[in-house]
Amino acid sequence: MERRRFRVSGVVQGVGFRPFVYGLATRHGLTGFVLNDGQGVVLEAEGEARVLDRLAADLVAEAPPLARVESVIAEAMDVAGDSTFRIAESGAEAGTALIPPDIATCDDCLRELFDPGDRRYRYPFVNCTQCGPRFTIVTAVPYDRRNTTMAEFDLCRDCRSEYEDPSDRRFHAEPVACPACGPTLALETASNTVLLAEEAVGGAIAALREGRIVAVKGLGGYHLACDTANEDAVARLRARKHREEKPFAVMTVDPRLLATVTDEEERLLRSPPRPIVLVERVLEARVAPSVAPETRWLGLMLPYTPLHHLLLADFGGALLMTSGNRSDEPIAHDDEDARERLAGIADAFLRHDRRIHRRCEDSVVRAPFTIRRSRGHVPSALPLPDRASRPIVAAGAELKSTFCVARDEHAFVSPHLGDLDTEAAYRAFASDLDLYLDMLGVRPELIAHDLHPEYLATKWALEQEVELIGVQHHHAHAAGCLAEHGERGPALALVFDGTGYGTDGTLWGGELLRCDLDSYERLAHLEPIPLPGGEAAIRQPWRTAAVYLERAERPVPFERWPLVRESLKVSAPLSSGMGRLFDAVAAVLGIREEVTYEGQAAIELEQLAGDVQAEPYPWRFGDGAALVRAVFDDHEAGRATPEIAAAFHESIAEGAAAACTEVVEPRIVVLSGGTFQNLRLLASMRRRLEQEGFSVLSHRLVPPNDGGISYGQAVVAAARDSPKSRSASFAAA
Ligand code: ZN
Ligand code: ZN
Ligand code: FE
Repeated sequence: MERRRFRVSGVVQGVGFRPFVYGLATRHGLTGFVLNDGQGVVLEAEGEARVLDRLAADLVAEAPPLARVESVIAEAMDVAGDSTFRIAESGAEAGTALIPPDIATCDDCLRELFDPGDRRYRYPFVNCTQCGPRFTIVTAVPYDRRNTTMAEFDLCRDCRSEYEDPSDRRFHAEPVACPACGPTLALETASNTVLLAEEAVGGAIAALREGRIVAVKGLGGYHLACDTANEDAVARLRARKHREEKPFAVMTVDPRLLATVTDEEERLLRSPPRPIVLVERVLEARVAPSVAPETRWLGLMLPYTPLHHLLLADFGGALLMTSGNRSDEPIAHDDEDARERLAGIADAFLRHDRRIHRRCEDSVVRAPFTIRRSRGHVPSALPLPDRASRPIVAAGAELKSTFCVARDEHAFVSPHLGDLDTEAAYRAFASDLDLYLDMLGVRPELIAHDLHPEYLATKWALEQEVELIGVQHHHAHAAGCLAEHGERGPALALVFDGTGYGTDGTLWGGELLRCDLDSYERLAHLEPIPLPGGEAAIRQPWRTAAVYLERAERPVPFERWPLVRESLKVSAPLSSGMGRLFDAVAAVLGIREEVTYEGQAAIELEQLAGDVQAEPYPWRFGDGAALVRAVFDDHEAGRATPEIAAAFHESIAEGAAAACTEVVEPRIVVLSGGTFQNLRLLASMRRRLEQEGFSVLSHRLVPPNDGGISYGQAVVAAARDSPKSRSASFAAA
């Protein structure tokens, strides 16, 4: 007879791990106990040595599907003579336990939801150990009901007996609830009537059918919902939300009615995080024009909470579901805040009394990479090639803001916060960061930040009384891509994006770097051009086009140019951004002279190019004006615009690949930056580089856009702060 203590760490709380251990120990005839503590799961078991060995192996081999066991450490104990195996009270200390992400409603719960004989029939908060809210309701670790926003609801007798029955699916399912004891749904209309439970669902469906906009409280915040097929409703939502043309997402149970969906896209749509997946719409899709103007791409997602399932089933069609906010602000998740901020937008509020502790927006994917890593993924850890020898906070960039907290060998990137250029977003950044630090039980000892002095995240960093590390924007992009593949470099990196602050005070963004996690060297870049009016040039691509055309010694066809040209003398930051070159070409081809959201011109240029075959223009990487000249001349000569757009894409890929080939070493190329959300460019770039014998790394887990910057900053800071790197710099000194 022996007794051993096992410490299991990883994602082992909120995934049915204790019931799993209980079942395992009972099956093996062992006695002892299991509990959650601040570090994960601890169990002590007594029995024969060979049975204890089996238990140790099974803990890893048979772990529940949502668990991620990182280590099991065993330790011999004195035999205590327990007579049973039990689930003990959780330890109280805060610590390093990993909280799982929110998980879409499982099939078992769905069956109950639509089974008239079940006591949870049509109950919008049904969940179990395999599904339901986690990250968004956890107020502290260890993950236990008293540390969630469900603590306010006392379990009824039926729920308690399920919760305490080791053979039940809801054994220790912390958010367990039923109509008798759990949260209640309520619909509040403009006339201030409040309908409850079934009447609330009925009222919401009626409102949606009438073309009204309903704010719906979800997992990580409020959505604004309306009938996807009703142009009036969608146009009204656009006007009220101040969102001109940026596409809205659509929730549906039948994606193939709306889009051609590849097998990989289908798999992503059904994956547990249930992200929004960008798919190509079918022509006959019943979707109002204002849902996604000027684009063939449609963001679709499947329902992921019981409430969504009820709404879609009762409505009987697709529902537009967009974040409850004004354009690009953080999503509203607090009930009071939502009522205030969405008052002028929503006609009714479908809410409930389960508090959302942390905001979390929907994730967005464009196969094969992620555009927004948020709900369903956070707070899962990303790898850190060099472990953080002390806690690091990386403040991130400005657009599509995230922050990152690094601890030991893990990087925890925050949910998507929105654009950090508003007061609301800045407050969200500060408060969400505090919640994250509490969850992880750390205080920052090192803060990494972008070099851009005007980013609010940089300003925040400079105000903290903590050691700072400035990380160049494009180095952060490249390092993040290396690190998510577990690589350290050295590598070449093509980093193409709109803007990022360079060390010479100009805006970079068409970069060929040689880098590792620690440092970088700028080998080549697009020739910088002045942006007439700065920010105005980003909103009005024709301004950039005019500058390029003058450089190319071609006539400028834009009427306002003579006037705007004057701004070159006043405000004209220099930019080598690839995004600006895409802008210029879109304007020259007459596709888009002004944009209403970031990246719009490039998206429409990619769409125009489609799969059209075209040879690249002879082009040496760097000289943007030469490419604009070629495009202009072809356009004048009457060549079809899709062919010109295709030739432009191929030229960038060919020219950049040739620039890598000239450098020769190292033989690995990283592709990062927002421009690589362009599938055609990404594919062509990869093909050409692989033909030249390079191995190519592009993003999968972390967005290529600025949502990935905080992770890259954390990676660089950890590398520079590692003992190895510090001793190297002493040696150099
Ligand atoms: Zn379930
Ligand atoms: Zn109950
Ligand atoms: Fe960037």
